[in-house]
Amino acid sequence: MALRDVIGQDKAVNILLRTGRRGRIPSAYLFAGESGIGKKFTALNLAKALNCLTPPFSRDAGGTDSRFTDACDECPSCRKTVSGVHPDVLFISPEGGQIRIEEIRAVDDMLSLKAFEGRYKIVIVDDADTMNQYAANAFLKTLEEPPEDSLIILVSSNPSRLPDTIRSRCSRINFTPLPQDACKRVIEKTITPGPAVRSKKAGGASSPQADALKSLSDEGLRLLTIVRLSMGRPGNAVSGDIIEERAWFIDLLKGMLNAEKDGWASKEEMERWFDLILILFRDMAVLKVTGDETKLVNIDLADYIRKISSSAGIKVIIENYRELNTLKGYLTFNLNKSLTWNYTGSLLRKTMDMTHA
Ligand SMILES: [Zn+2]
Repeated sequence: MALRDVIGQDKAVNILLRTGRRGRIPSAYLFAGESGIGKKFTALNLAKALNCLTPPFSRDAGGTDSRFTDACDECPSCRKTVSGVHPDVLFISPEGGQIRIEEIRAVDDMLSLKAFEGRYKIVIVDDADTMNQYAANAFLKTLEEPPEDSLIILVSSNPSRLPDTIRSRCSRINFTPLPQDACKRVIEKTITPGPAVRSKKAGGASSPQADALKSLSDEGLRLLTIVRLSMGRPGNAVSGDIIEERAWFIDLLKGMLNAEKDGWASKEEMERWFDLILILFRDMAVLKVTGDETKLVNIDLADYIRKISSSAGIKVIIENYRELNTLKGYLTFNLNKSLTWNYTGSLLRKTMDMTHA
């Protein structure tokens, strides 16, 4: 893999390539954007490209050779970077949800040495916003006096949580969620065929889109569902089984509607569950308003969605969506798990038909 293999982030990659060709690599980048859209992948491939021993010859600069084009993906340097053993490339990520000062000291130690093999010493800090206060203070000093020929790449899906003092010392590169076709290309490359989600295809009104949907194979329907559920963030679909996760979500939804005990094991599970309930409400609204199953995110669950929302009007669906969205915003404030579960259940019972859930 190389920078040319990054899908759907042309703008970000072109900026990196242009800056590299001009020899104007900054001392620190901040790769910002939602999770699962290729920031870390791009960072790794930028590291490869910068230290590649046999970069592909550049023909686009009037035939003159350029030292910086992309990674060859084959030389010892590229291979060492991929397997995490390149002495001039350090990758750090949170442990137990935090990046601590010890890890920042390891960064300083590494950067204080001359590059062993590569042209650049490169540090990639994944989930950089999880640096605790001590780590952030220490890291600021590193950013203030960057050693020569070094590059620090901060990767963050919550860049606003980074201190201003750190953000302002980095060149920010924004990454955006992928359009559906790009998302599909990433997922097709990485996901192996699995069992069909369900055999029943969408019925309902006929239209070219609806006919195309009906003619999909089970595997095609599964892939389309995965693409839609990933919401432009294919990395999230690739890193786990998104269909399995949705089954978990629906199980919990049933339990909630039946006033069972709270089923979230952690705050992360709560957050993910709220992501999925909001998507379900979005689908309920779309189906009520348009009746068009081809527009659903949960495109394989049209019948289910129609049934659970059969008794609710569009007004109450939208009101509930807003309330759920507000609740989701409060999750960062450590809401009590079982109180939230019970409250959400009482909200949902206003909209959803329990007999079909
Ligand atoms: Zn190479």
